Parts: sequence; structure tokens; C-alpha cells
Amino acid sequence: MRVGHGYDAHPFADADASGRILVLGGVRFPGELPLVGHSDADVVAHAVIDAMLSAAGLGDIGTQFPDSDERWRGADSIEMLRQVSALLAEGGWMLANADCTVICDRPMIAPHRDQMQERLSCAAGGPVTVCGKRTEGLGVSGGIVAHAVALVVAGRQQ
Ligand code: MG
Repeated sequence: MRVGHGYDAHPFADADASGRILVLGGVRFPGELPLVGHSDADVVAHAVIDAMLSAAGLGDIGTQFPDSDERWRGADSIEMLRQVSALLAEGGWMLANADCTVICDRPMIAPHRDQMQERLSCAAGGPVTVCGKRTEGLGVSGGIVAHAVALVVAGRQQ
């Protein structure tokens, strides 16, 4: 078995960012300030993806989904996570579990935690847990940050 760590951060978009919606862990938050990114800027999914890829020794999100590639413009990060799960399976790895901490003052994560965990777990092919933490005035006010760890086990196919 192997462990991997993932980190991601995306800045908030301008209030008038047309067409963008905040997405965290595959859950949409209309009315909240959206994040800037090449894909849907889902920092939670991205941190989990990096943790899984690192654990399996498969590079990182930038090598698998380069932001120079127009295929990933506005991409659904849950679909990217599903592809990462398939990459792991091809390499003989399976996700034992992943855990992600989201750092933001808004939105409140707890009311949406179950839904995020369900969407992430379904796409990742193993249990993914999510914990929301506020910045307690220390900053990170310009965007949202997420950290994740993933444990993968060898020898089992999906
Ligand atoms: Mg990202």
C-alpha cells in the first residue's frame, strides 16, 4: 500500500464572472462566489485527484489533465476523478480511502458534506471523506484551499 498527499488552491472570480458556478466536491453552490480555473475549479476534487495520483506514482493532475489542453476547459472534475480511478485500476491500484480538508469561510461545508462524500466516493471508486475548516480570520480570504491524503492498495482490480 502507498499513501499520497494532494493540495490545491483556486482564487475567487470577480463577482460578475459570467457563467461560472462554485463547485466543491461535485456539489454546486449557485449564488456563492465562484472560483477561477481552467476546468470547473473544483479544488476538493483536484486535491483528491492529486493525492490518488501521487499515491499510485502516476504523476499529478497537471500531467494527466494539462491546462494547455482545450479538452479540459470547463471540465467536470468529478469526471476527471472517475478517469483517475480508471488509471489507478489500470496500474493495479485501488483506492482504500481518501480524506480531504477544505479551508474556506464560505460556503459552510457541513450541510453539504454527505452529498460531497457520496459524489467523490462514487467517482473515486472508494470512500472519500470531507471536512470543512474555517480560516478563523487568518486569511485565505482570496480563494479556497484543499488538502487531501489518499491510501491506495495494490493487487486488486475494480
Ligand atoms: Mg485545481
